[in-house]
Amino acid sequence: MGALIGWFCHYTPVEIITALGFTPYRLLGREGNTPRADTYLVGNLCPYVKSCLETAIRQELPPLAGTVIARSCNAMIHLASTWPRYGGRGATLVLDVPRRLDEEAVLYYSQDLRRLAGELARLGERQLEDSLLWQAIDAWEEQRSCWRGLLAARARGEICLSGSDVMAWLDGWQTGMTAAGRDKGQAGSATIEQRSRPDFRGRPRLMLAGSILPAELPALVEEWGGWPVCEDACNGRRFLLAEVARETGDPYLHLARLYLGGPPCPRMVADQTRRQQYWAGVVNDYQIDGVIYHVMKFCDAAIYDFRAMKDFCDRRGLPLLRLDGDYTGGGRGQWQTRVEAFLEMF
Ligand code: SF4
Repeated sequence: MGALIGWFCHYTPVEIITALGFTPYRLLGREGNTPRADTYLVGNLCPYVKSCLETAIRQELPPLAGTVIARSCNAMIHLASTWPRYGGRGATLVLDVPRRLDEEAVLYYSQDLRRLAGELARLGERQLEDSLLWQAIDAWEEQRSCWRGLLAARARGEICLSGSDVMAWLDGWQTGMTAAGRDKGQAGSATIEQRSRPDFRGRPRLMLAGSILPAELPALVEEWGGWPVCEDACNGRRFLLAEVARETGDPYLHLARLYLGGPPCPRMVADQTRRQQYWAGVVNDYQIDGVIYHVMKFCDAAIYDFRAMKDFCDRRGLPLLRLDGDYTGGGRGQWQTRVEAFLEMF
């Protein structure tokens, strides 16, 4: 297993990390308050970002050779300034991600990815050749396609798979794209049908949406009587991107198109039409009965995105529930009351 490179935002092309012989390791924060990170970051900042900084200050992370921080939102920009001094050890590399999808944005992003690859290569012992990068692109696409197939089978009702399993497996997969991790993921997928799963059929089919979802939310919604069938979050379905035809010999252009063209995140403010089209596709394909939107405290992107989701649900007559959270694992009692009342509507 190669040295670990930490990453946060799902717009970070992990293929580059893999191709250089490193192991991508996603930082997903920790449960609990963040008193140490609060010392360095202002109070009204994303709790997920603070939670990740807290894990680093408390030295709860495995040793990282470096960390890639995509400056994807205001909170991440602050993290990029703070991380080198108070965060993890190793190099800090930043990435600028456009907020729209057009040819100029794709070209700009591809050039930034090439720069990032050069900086990462200097941390290791391997020069990055295009052929290695294509190999990594194919390996990741194979894995993602496996996951997409699995989630589609769940949506069609062919397998009964709980949202808590999906989140747990995806979390495990994102924090260790190693041969062992891959085998584990595949083994997990292969045994799904043999395992005894609670049968949620007949319950309201829900989309859980938000910027990043607390990993325990799907399990809680299941416990309270719902059936999450799609997790529209950057640690859920969005991370699986969408298949893109290989139109170019330049792997960086391909990666830029793959990532910017994937299911849009709430931060893609200039890409709202595509986000609404994406929701419409999910609602149809996954036969969604209602939506629970988790708004991360102080996440401006999620707050604006919720407004757009509300308009979308109003137009389609879909019930929508907003849950506010601070990523600490608190407030579950209030969530339970609200989710149970929401589910009574169906
Ligand atoms: S949850 Fe919101 S504020 Fe936090 S990192 Fe993601 S987009 Fe930024």
